[in-house]
Amino acid sequence: MNGVLIVTGGSRGIGAAICELAASRGYDVVVNYSGDPVPAEDVAARVREHGRQAVSVRADVSVEEDVRALFDAAAELGPVTALVNNAAVTGNTPGRLDAYDVEVVRRTLDVNVTGVFLCCREAVLRMSTRYGGAGGAIVNVSSTAARTGSAGEWVHYAASKAAVDTLTFGLAQEVGGEGVRVNAVRPGMIRTGLHDAAGLPDRLDRLAPSIPMGRPGEPAEIAEAVLFLLSPASSFTTGAVLEAGGGR
Ligand code: NAP
Repeated sequence: MNGVLIVTGGSRGIGAAICELAASRGYDVVVNYSGDPVPAEDVAARVREHGRQAVSVRADVSVEEDVRALFDAAAELGPVTALVNNAAVTGNTPGRLDAYDVEVVRRTLDVNVTGVFLCCREAVLRMSTRYGGAGGAIVNVSSTAARTGSAGEWVHYAASKAAVDTLTFGLAQEVGGEGVRVNAVRPGMIRTGLHDAAGLPDRLDRLAPSIPMGRPGEPAEIAEAVLFLLSPASSFTTGAVLEAGGGR
């Protein structure tokens, strides 16, 4: 029994893989989503097949009251010990920065940065020994885009992920002495619906030759990296960013 894990954006792709692997490692899991409840409930059902508790909870991570309600729902399963900030959006319309709509940029930053801030704040208030908690672990899902800049596709998304990295370093220092570890994983090109949704169905195959390992990654490979950083196997690791991009 590893306690209660909240995975934001747990209904599809990388988030769903994290939920399932976490269940197999003994976590009870809160599967968060903001849109379609059906895939989220499917993931929750697969968690229960591992004999663990699971609930799917609709909450937009960029909305303060939603985030509070998400953590309250999680607390009904038991004390929250782990959080994975995985939910993110790209804006879905790739292009150069000078062609971008400011409202798309605002929404991307709101979900990808403010959402991570809100969930981290709520987690610290409940996990930190400073507030009577028993400690815990947070993993933020960043992207190799934070380094590469994603020119011609979504520079604003890349910048949002660089902000996630910085938030990870800073928060890790603030709560390092309070029983809470904060780390990040930077996935590279991963086979999920994110690319299709952005109108780039051939993106992974097109870019595969630029990946030293010669292929895109699978969601389960990212889940392994995340579960390592949540687990006691990484007990002296905080403020770290783990690259999981096949060398790119
Ligand atoms: P995905 O397949 O598009 O899934 C995104 C998840 O986030 C869905 O469960 C979605 O559910 C949820 N979501 C979106 N907006 C939300 C909001 N405002 N509040 C709560 N949940 C929200 O994405 P993915 O490819 O698995 O990516 C997961 C993470 O990995 C993201 O942080 C992404 O930036 C990062 N990443 C992905 C890749 C890649 O190649 N796929 C590469 C690098 C980094 P609803 O639609 O129901 O809200």
